[in-house]
Amino acid sequence: MTVDPAPPAARTGAGRVAVVGGSVIGLACAWAIARAGLADEIVVHEPDDSGPDGVPASGAAWVAGGMLAPFSEAWPGEEAVFALGVDSLRRWPNLLSALEPYVPPGPPVRTATHTHMLAVDEADARDLDMAMEWAARQPDPTRQASGSGPGSGPAPGITEADLRRVTRRQLREAEPSLARVARAAYRMDSEGAVDNRVLLAALTRACRAEGVTWVRSAVTSLDDVDADRIVLAAGSGSAELAGLPVRPVKGEVLRLRARPGCEDPPRGVVRAFVRGRPLYLVPRDGGLVVGATQYEHGDDRQVTVAGVRDLLADAEMIFPGVGEYELAEAVAGLRPMSPDNLPFLGPDSTDPRLIHATGHGRNGIALTPVTVAAVWAELHAERGPAAARAAAPDRFTRG
Ligand SMILES: Cc1cc2nc3c(=O)[nH]c(=O)nc-3n(C[C@H](O)[C@H](O)[C@H](O)COP(=O)(O)OP(=O)(O)OC[C@H]3O[C@@H](n4cnc5c(N)ncnc54)[C@H](O)[C@@H]3O)c2cc1C
Repeated sequence: MTVDPAPPAARTGAGRVAVVGGSVIGLACAWAIARAGLADEIVVHEPDDSGPDGVPASGAAWVAGGMLAPFSEAWPGEEAVFALGVDSLRRWPNLLSALEPYVPPGPPVRTATHTHMLAVDEADARDLDMAMEWAARQPDPTRQASGSGPGSGPAPGITEADLRRVTRRQLREAEPSLARVARAAYRMDSEGAVDNRVLLAALTRACRAEGVTWVRSAVTSLDDVDADRIVLAAGSGSAELAGLPVRPVKGEVLRLRARPGCEDPPRGVVRAFVRGRPLYLVPRDGGLVVGATQYEHGDDRQVTVAGVRDLLADAEMIFPGVGEYELAEAVAGLRPMSPDNLPFLGPDSTDPRLIHATGHGRNGIALTPVTVAAVWAELHAERGPAAARAAAPDRFTRG
């Protein structure tokens, strides 16, 4: 994963492994562990099976835009976040090919293979130039020693040419349905997006095929979990279980369905700042996702009128054809944010049973493959991805 396409047969005696939280991170970890034969038994503790075919629909992964976006999220000072994201992005092609047999009939997992980032005023244009110049200067994290295990070794590449500033004309040719409002634009060719819900469905099927079983109740204390190793992947529920500094950050998205005669959606992901607010348009089979708001409101998953109004107004400024679409769904979820925007990946410093795989904030879909590689390495007693070291769970508490 990056699941290794040829799973090793040997068991290493991890015994009974419990994964707490069975959304994108928990399912991907459970599948990789089961597939590699690392455990005698693997059990996912996940109370929610309310989505189609039993997938969880209350986690952030059900709501997410599904963007794989280390470059479009790049910001000076977040070197470790960027390095982790780039490492994970390189692992996605292997994950997608390993998952292929489990993708249900219908739309594919991957929905976009490039991103355009736009700035609509001068200040945003300066910020965008600064962030992209910074991203282009960052060392390639996957050229550092990256450990062994699934996904290590040379990965399908991101080249420097994948990120480039584009002219208004190039933007118009690539994305003819967008309004001509961009003061600056960049294109990134290896980012794009996955369909989060198809991904959850495929991971659920993959887990079932590898003999993973589920306990359909919430864990109230990790002490009650009967397992030799525990992988904590409970998203914003992780703070309560393990005392981690993970806080819920609410986000709303709209899912729009194309109607006959309406303008085609953008061909790739489009990201912009509009009136100081971040906006993204993510193509989906038969429509698009518009996101996302961001509020520090605690455990609040209600969609507000103001959230829908702002998203639609901002989307219309970038993609004027949006008004013809059917508003199919407005939905909110909780991003499991950490104080430094890095997740918590790796062994707990006091509980030898516990491995953290949580706190992925805005990027948990994107960071799924590198998270799996880190968990896999810990269970295998091997060195994990170099970029994951900055995400050590004890980084806020060690002296
Ligand atoms: C609006 C929005 C847009 C987003 N867009 C993107 C994007 O474009 N790209 C991207 O990479 N990321 C995006 N994210 C972030 C991404 O969705 C999360 O980082 C990711 O879902 C985290 O995955 P997870 O499996 O750790 O947690 P979640 O998906 O939140 O799932 C946590 C699971 O744990 C279960 N659980 C909780 N407590 C317990 C317990 N006590 N016992 C057992 N189970 C428990 C829950 O039922 C749930 O199923 C977005 C998030 C939001 C809200």
